[in-house]
Amino acid sequence: MKSSINLPHDDASCGWYSALPEPQACTRLQGEQRADYAVIGAGFAGLAAARRLAEHHPQARILLVDAQRVGYGASGRNSGFVIDLPHKFALEHPEPAHKQRLLGLNRAAIAQLQGLIQRHGIECQWSHAGKYQGAVGPRGLAYLKHFEHLLKGLGESFEWVERSELARVLGTQHYSGAIYTPGCYLMQPAALVTGLARSLPGNVELLEESPIQRLERDGQGGWLLHGSNGRIRTPQLLLGTSIFTQEFGYLRNRLLPVMTFASWTRPLSDAELAAYGGQLDWGLTPADHAGTTVRMTQDRRIIIRNTYKHVPKYGRSSSEAMRTSIREDHRKAFLARFPQLAEVPFSHTWGGVYAISRNFTNFFGELEQGVYASACDNGVGAAWGTISGTLLADLAVQADSAQLRDIQAVTGMPSLNPPEPFLGLGVRSRIRLAAWNSRSEL
Ligand SMILES: Cc1cc2nc3c(=O)[nH]c(=O)nc-3n(C[C@H](O)[C@H](O)[C@H](O)COP(=O)(O)OP(=O)(O)OC[C@H]3O[C@@H](n4cnc5c(N)ncnc54)[C@H](O)[C@@H]3O)c2cc1C
Repeated sequence: MKSSINLPHDDASCGWYSALPEPQACTRLQGEQRADYAVIGAGFAGLAAARRLAEHHPQARILLVDAQRVGYGASGRNSGFVIDLPHKFALEHPEPAHKQRLLGLNRAAIAQLQGLIQRHGIECQWSHAGKYQGAVGPRGLAYLKHFEHLLKGLGESFEWVERSELARVLGTQHYSGAIYTPGCYLMQPAALVTGLARSLPGNVELLEESPIQRLERDGQGGWLLHGSNGRIRTPQLLLGTSIFTQEFGYLRNRLLPVMTFASWTRPLSDAELAAYGGQLDWGLTPADHAGTTVRMTQDRRIIIRNTYKHVPKYGRSSSEAMRTSIREDHRKAFLARFPQLAEVPFSHTWGGVYAISRNFTNFFGELEQGVYASACDNGVGAAWGTISGTLLADLAVQADSAQLRDIQAVTGMPSLNPPEPFLGLGVRSRIRLAAWNSRSEL
């Protein structure tokens, strides 16, 4: 059956996923299935929701369905920062209580992930490495000054790091300064989400490569989820489908699909590591958010992430031509930082899609009777997806908690987008302007 909706179709060139062992065969949706709960989307949000539902109801049948393999979507192809601090725009929020709630929720997510990783022995390069927020020149330093002000307002600890100390850790003189915050964790995202999927409770059944193409009321107060070779009948449906949520008719014209891109090197040889001169296992995000994210992994790979694209056809993967052109930009950013590694090639370049909203508001809650969603994390979904998915399950089973009230207090309705072609024109020109203004920080 040909689908009329945008279905996920990520490119096959994600480095993190390709570094995993060959996946085992998966189970697909077939025939008529009944579930007490169905969760669509097996990223951070859907995995956490399914796990929590199972904890609440160990006897219930819970089906977790994804269009692709677990680890193939955005949750497995991000830069691997699990960030405790509220993200840029949320940090500017005028109410201190709002920011403290976000901090508390993100830290609860980190504690939850850490507990699961330890309990199930998930090997995913999990590390309490903290995070550098790096400035290349005066523009970046001005952003850092503002960041310092916001951190002081929050009462959070941080440390200024000067160029020479940065060079010792990062193996590059490229940055004039950075602010180090200790609460961030780093990980291998595809390894983490596949590990989370493998360790799901026994009453969660994972169905992969099973796109849901249509939702329909079943006439008895529940839902029918239509796939190409089967369907699921369920009274309760949870959506962890990020930008694809609008394909089911929800939050329409409120989410903006954005794609960003990363490239990484093969693991450095001993000689290259000596020439690099820095340490392993660190992560740096740009002071100016349109700049470049850089990581050195525990297994000696350097990752460069930059470039944003507005992708109205987000159900298609990025083209090879687009990735080739972006790889050239990544290469320039790499050589500006690590000229001593000019002979080290990139082995992979990939893109991934996520949802932002114009008012930077996350949606969390019930969309209509029996349908719940967490969508639109504005590109920082490792911690947010984990905690929002968990609490979405609490909401669905009516388990009240202080955390549930906190997440309800900090979320809301993403604002409506203007109609096309104004939307596309506006978003594209904002992205271009941000890239131009930040060119010195790229
Ligand atoms: C290159 C890149 C770098 C990033 N870096 C970071 C970072 O360092 N830290 C951070 O916190 N965030 C980062 N992000 C953002 C982060 O990856 C996302 O915010 C996060 O993955 C969202 O999680 P999620 O579970 O809500 O959605 P997703 O991970 O997008 O999961 C949604 C799932 O729904 C499935 N789905 C959609 N439609 C259907 C359907 N019809 N039927 C069945 N299944 C369907 C998809 O296949 C997908 O697996 C980055 C993103 C990218 C692309």
